[in-house]
Amino acid sequence: MRGVKANSGNGHGAPSLAERKIWMPRLTEASSRAMAAVFRSFGLDAVVTPPSDERTRELGARHTCGDECYPTKVTLGDFLKVLQAPGADPSKIAFFMAGGQGPCRFGQYVPYMRSVLASLGYPDVPVLGPTFEGGYADFGLSGSGFVRSAWRAVVTSDILMKLLLKTRPYEAVAGSGDGAHEASIVDLCRVLEVAYRDPRAQLAALNRCMLRARTRFREVPVRDEARPLIGIVGEIFCRLNNFSNDHLVRRLEAAGAAVWMNDVSEWIWYTNDESMRLLDLGGKRYSPQALGARIRAHYQKKDEDALLDPLREDFRGYEEPEMREVLENAEPYLPASGTSGEMVVNVGKAVYFARKGLDGVIDISPFTCMNGIICEAIYPRVSLDYAGIPIRNFYFDGTQSDLERDVGIFLEMARNYCRRKPWKWVQGALWHNGGGARRAG
Ligand code: SF4
Repeated sequence: MRGVKANSGNGHGAPSLAERKIWMPRLTEASSRAMAAVFRSFGLDAVVTPPSDERTRELGARHTCGDECYPTKVTLGDFLKVLQAPGADPSKIAFFMAGGQGPCRFGQYVPYMRSVLASLGYPDVPVLGPTFEGGYADFGLSGSGFVRSAWRAVVTSDILMKLLLKTRPYEAVAGSGDGAHEASIVDLCRVLEVAYRDPRAQLAALNRCMLRARTRFREVPVRDEARPLIGIVGEIFCRLNNFSNDHLVRRLEAAGAAVWMNDVSEWIWYTNDESMRLLDLGGKRYSPQALGARIRAHYQKKDEDALLDPLREDFRGYEEPEMREVLENAEPYLPASGTSGEMVVNVGKAVYFARKGLDGVIDISPFTCMNGIICEAIYPRVSLDYAGIPIRNFYFDGTQSDLERDVGIFLEMARNYCRRKPWKWVQGALWHNGGGARRAG
C-alpha cells in the first residue's frame, strides 16, 4: 500500500475508505478498469460498476426529474443498482465520480448524487470526486505519484481502444478483436495495480505491456477490404460509454465502416490548455500554479511520447494532433478565447478529420446537451468549407427509434463523399504480412 491515509470519506464518522469498495463509472471499458487498477495500487479497493442495462435506465429515470443530462441518469442508475443489489452493505460502499468546473452541468454531478443518495436513506455513502483545489485529497491520495499513474492509465487505455478500432472492423473471425482487447485490458490492469516505487520501472513495464497488446492485435486474422473511415467526436461520456450511445460504433462497423474515436487523453490536454489560458487571463502566467501546471504538462507529454513511440508505425495515418492545432482549427468557427468546453475541441477535431481525409464525422451528444446543440449549428459551415464532408449529430437519451436506418443513410453520404473528396487519407501501418486494412476510395 502506498499514499493512502485514513479517510472517513464523508466527515460524519462513517467507515473509512479503507473499509469501503469504491465503485467507478464506466467510460471506455479499458480506461475505467485501468483507473480502478491505479486506485488499487494505492491500497484502495476499487472496481468498475457492472455493465449498464434497462434497470440502470429505470433507476436513473426514477430519481431524476428530466432537467439533468443523460450521463447523470446512467451513472446514477448504475450506482443505485450497486446499492440495491441483494446483500449490498452501504457501509462498505463508496462511489467515484469525476467532476468539472466548466460551463455545463458536469460540475453538479457530485453534489446532485450526494443529495439523491441522502434522500434515499444513504446519507453516509460517500460520492467522491477530485476537486480543483484539493485534487484527490478526498481519497487520502496526495503527491504526484497517483496523478502520474492515472495519466499513464489514460494513455495506455487509449492505445488499446485505438488498436481495437483499427482491427475489429476487419477481423476475419467474429469476436477475435474483442478477445485481443479484453486480454490486453487484463494485462494492463495487472501492471497498473502493482505499487511501483520507481516511475521508470512502471513505464518500462507499461511499454512491455503495450508491445504484448500489439502482438495480440497483429495476430487477429483480418480481411483486406475497403471501408469508409468515420471520425467520432462529441460529449465525452456519451461518446465513450457504449451503453449510452446505443453501441453506435459497433453499429457503424456492422454497417461497413471503420471508426476513429476521439480519445480520453484529448480532454486532459484541453483542460491543461484551458487552465493555462485562465491563469494568463488572471495575470498569473508566472505564478507557482502556472509553474506547477507547466511541469505537470511536461511530464505528461514525456510519458505519452514514451508510451506511444514504440507504436508509431502502427498508428501511421492515425496521428493525433496537438491540442494547439485542434484549437487553431476551431478558431474561425468557435474561438477558444471566447468559448469554453468540449464544443471547441469537437469543432477543431472535426476540421482535423476533414483535412486528414476521413469520409465523415459523427458528433455523439446527449439530448439537450449544449455542446452538441452549438456544434450542430456550426457543422454546416465546416462541411461547406471542406468539400461537403458529411457531419452529423446523433443525440441520445435512451429512447432512440431507428438508429440503424440513420446509420445507413449517413454511411451512404460518407461513401458518396469518399468518391469525390479532394483529400486522400494515407493508410500507413502495415498489418499481417504487409496487407491489412485499407480504405474505400
Ligand atoms: S457536456 Fe452536456 S451532457 Fe456532458 S455534463 Fe455537460 S451538459 Fe451534461
